[in-house]
Amino acid sequence: MSGVLNVAETARTVRSRKCSARQAVQSAINAIRDREGRLKTFISVSPDAALKRADEIDAAIAHGRDPGPLAGVPVALKDNICNRHAATTCASNILRDFVPPYDAHVVERLTAAGAIILAKTNMDEFAMGSSTENSGFFKTRNPWNENCVPGGSSGGSTAAVAARMIPAAFGSDTGGSIRQPAALCGVTGLKPTYGRVSRYGLVAFGSSLDQIGPITVDARDAALLLAVIAGRDPRDSTSVAEPVPDYVAALDKPIHGLKIGIAAEYFGQGLDPQVETAVRAALDLFRARGAEVREITLPHMKYAVACYYVVATAEASSNLARYDGVHYGHRTPVPSDLIDLYARSRHEGFGAEVKRRIMLGTYVLSSGYYDAYYLKALKVRTLIRRDFERAFESVDVIASPVTPTTAFPIGEKSDDPLAMYLADIYTISANLAGVPAISIPCGFDAKRLPIGLQLTGPWFREDRILNLAHQFQSATDHHTHRPPLAAA
Ligand code: GLN
Repeated sequence: MSGVLNVAETARTVRSRKCSARQAVQSAINAIRDREGRLKTFISVSPDAALKRADEIDAAIAHGRDPGPLAGVPVALKDNICNRHAATTCASNILRDFVPPYDAHVVERLTAAGAIILAKTNMDEFAMGSSTENSGFFKTRNPWNENCVPGGSSGGSTAAVAARMIPAAFGSDTGGSIRQPAALCGVTGLKPTYGRVSRYGLVAFGSSLDQIGPITVDARDAALLLAVIAGRDPRDSTSVAEPVPDYVAALDKPIHGLKIGIAAEYFGQGLDPQVETAVRAALDLFRARGAEVREITLPHMKYAVACYYVVATAEASSNLARYDGVHYGHRTPVPSDLIDLYARSRHEGFGAEVKRRIMLGTYVLSSGYYDAYYLKALKVRTLIRRDFERAFESVDVIASPVTPTTAFPIGEKSDDPLAMYLADIYTISANLAGVPAISIPCGFDAKRLPIGLQLTGPWFREDRILNLAHQFQSATDHHTHRPPLAAA
């Protein structure tokens, strides 16, 4: 069995009545049954609700109504994206039983377009991590090598798409959590411009950094999904009313004359030579198609990881204050008084990494340290943003590796938070600047683990990075390879 079809194929077959929405959902359910076993990508699967929705779509088609561009496409959501019919746990014991009373904006948009929410995926607790090992529930394995991590924090979403259990999944990216696991699992992952997609219904981690984005087999599917979820939503005041271009139409534009920037900052110490070779081979391909590759510089990138861990933890400490054992979430059974209720509920509900971030964030925001750390980090963030503004005066896109290495063994970095933080060294600056970036497969290392190529564009130019990604995928077959399990 080859697993599910991709998004474009599923929608096409359902819309043309070659296959019913019910069959499309059933094929994902079957693939999950056959493959989920040891991979453990999902926190919950809702086959009954999905089949019921599929029948409604089939009935609409039978009555000659248009069920939407994503008719019958089953999708999975990272478990920090709220939907009404399932728990949204953030892979945390503090939200283990939380069923949201509303749908996220992206869920409303997807449902209106005919997509069907089938499952919720595993993640690092509250999206804090780079390996999905910080899940409060269980670890997810990489389909290419079960002893390796899938990356994180959207590792459940990327592993599920890589194993072809679901045509597409959604993740959130605060410092790399879509792109890094996409690279490590050999799938396509897009972080849109900050403000391109509403965060309404996304459980907040670092509110000025978080964006929801699609995880797919290829750039065409990413374009189809972004077209549906992008746009202004009055419920998220940071979402922007910028017009949504036709991402699918932009895919086929020739890339002749496009200026692609490469920055030495992305090719420094710690970069696995096999990753570098694959990225440089991709640049050769772009050159052969008439693009021009130019050296640029992003001088403040070296401060990005440090800056991020001040800004992100500060925002997280504030966002996570709401889990107090009173409003919702876990409440300790026998508190001695109110303070004890707060302290114990949080102590019991949060895992070690989340506690570490809350403490760091509280510290950098405390009086006396606010200026030295938080305010300083905001200034550095402005410098990083200016680096990109300057770079995009001379190039159209920036190409780089996504991660310094391919997937690492489970357990290798889990006791060393600083080593784990460095897994996002090439992805974090895009979040600090707010620019869009995509990770696409560009080869394999000697252990046959996937390698990712990152394409970063100017603000709101997702069309351009999707175009370049699609042109790359039209000329190569890296994205079509299947992990051993899926080939069985
Ligand atoms: N790995 C980074 C962190 O732990 C990024 C996570 C993310 O993008 N959600 O903060």
